[in-house]
Amino acid sequence: MNKAHPNEYLPERVAVLGATGSVGTQALEVIADKKLPVEFLTAHKNVTLAEEQIRAFMPETYVMTDAASAKDLAVRVRDTATRVFGPDALDEVIRSSKSPTVIHSILGEAGLSPLLSAIEAGKRIGLANKETLVIGGDLLMPRAAACGAKIIPVDSEHSAIFQCLDGKPREEIRSILLTASGGPFYGYSREQLSRVTREQTLAHPTWKMGAKITTDSATLMNKGFEVIEAVRLFGVRPEQIEVLVHRESIIHSAVEYIDSAVIAQLGAPDMRLCVQYALTYPHRLEGLTERLSLTKIGKLTFASPDAEAFPLLALAFRAISLGGGVPAVLNAANEIAVEAFLSEKLSFLGIAETVTQTVERLPEAARARSLEERIAFDRQARRIAQELILHG
Ligand code: MG
Repeated sequence: MNKAHPNEYLPERVAVLGATGSVGTQALEVIADKKLPVEFLTAHKNVTLAEEQIRAFMPETYVMTDAASAKDLAVRVRDTATRVFGPDALDEVIRSSKSPTVIHSILGEAGLSPLLSAIEAGKRIGLANKETLVIGGDLLMPRAAACGAKIIPVDSEHSAIFQCLDGKPREEIRSILLTASGGPFYGYSREQLSRVTREQTLAHPTWKMGAKITTDSATLMNKGFEVIEAVRLFGVRPEQIEVLVHRESIIHSAVEYIDSAVIAQLGAPDMRLCVQYALTYPHRLEGLTERLSLTKIGKLTFASPDAEAFPLLALAFRAISLGGGVPAVLNAANEIAVEAFLSEKLSFLGIAETVTQTVERLPEAARARSLEERIAFDRQARRIAQELILHG
C-alpha cells in the first residue's frame, strides 16, 4: 500500500475540531511536523487564523461554527480549493469524513454534538475537551465502545494515566495519583484570595492555555473536572483518586496498582506530546517535545491541596459521587461564574460561592440520566448562576 505519510504508525489523514484554540494550534504543530494530510478543520470565529491555516495546511474543508465568520472566511479564501461551511454542516462533515482520527479540542458543552458524531462514525478521538466527559462521560464511553470508536485522552494528566495503565484492567488499580500544579495562588489564604485580580489570575500559566482554563486552574475547578474525567474515562471510583499538588509539573500523573507499585509518567510540560501520542498510540515516534533533564530539575515536591482555600475541588468530588446531572450543573455554573470573573463582574472567591450555591439549588439533578435531561439541568444552572451574580 502506498501511503503519503512517512510512517505507518500515523493515520493517513487527520481532522482537528477547534483548530484555532490553544490545543488545536499545538495539534497542528504536531501535524505539520509529521507532514500529515489534513482533511478538515473547524473553528468558531477566529477568521484570521483560520485563513492562515487554510493556506498552510490546505484542508479539503473548513467549518466555522459562527455563521457570519463562515461567510467572511469563504470570501477570503475564494482563491483556494478549500470549501468553507457554516455551523449547520459540522456534524455531517464529521460523519462523512474519511480521516480515521480526529483531534477534538472544541471548548465547553459545544463539543458534545461533534463528539457524538465522531463516536458514531467509529473514529479514534484524541479528546482534549473535558466538559463533554464531565456532562456525560458515563454515557459516552459505552457508546464509543459500541460504535468501535476509541477515545484517547489528550488532557495531560489523563494522557499520563492512560500511558501508565497501558490497557491494564481496572481491578488491578488501587488508586490514581492525579497531579496538580497548584495554580498561581498556591499557599494563599482565603483572605489573600479575596483580593486577587483577573490580571494576577491570568499571568504565567505553566501550560500554554486559554483564559477560561487558566482561571479554572487557579480555582482548582480544573482539577475537580479532571477528577470527574478520570472517573469517567477509567471507570474508577471517586475515592480511588488522590489529588497531589506537584509544583514542578514534571510528573503528569501516576497509577498505584494493588501490589503497591506506582507507575508514573514524566516529561516536560508540553501538550504536543499528548496530541502526538493520541495519533501514534500504541506506538511512539520522535516528536517536538524537549527532553527531560532530571538533574537540572534536581528535586520533585508533593503536597496535599488546601481544601478550605479551594472549595471547588471538594465540590467536584461531591458532584461525581452524586452523579447524574450534578457534574453538568457544576460545569455550567462554573462557565457562567468564570465568564463574570473575566469581565470583572465577580470576585475570585465569588466564583466558588456562585458555583456552590447553584449546585445546592439543584439537588434533583442527581436523578438526570439521559444526556437530554442533563443538558436541561445545564441550562437551568446557567440561569440560576446568572441570577446569583446579578442579585447575590
Ligand atoms: Mg490537565
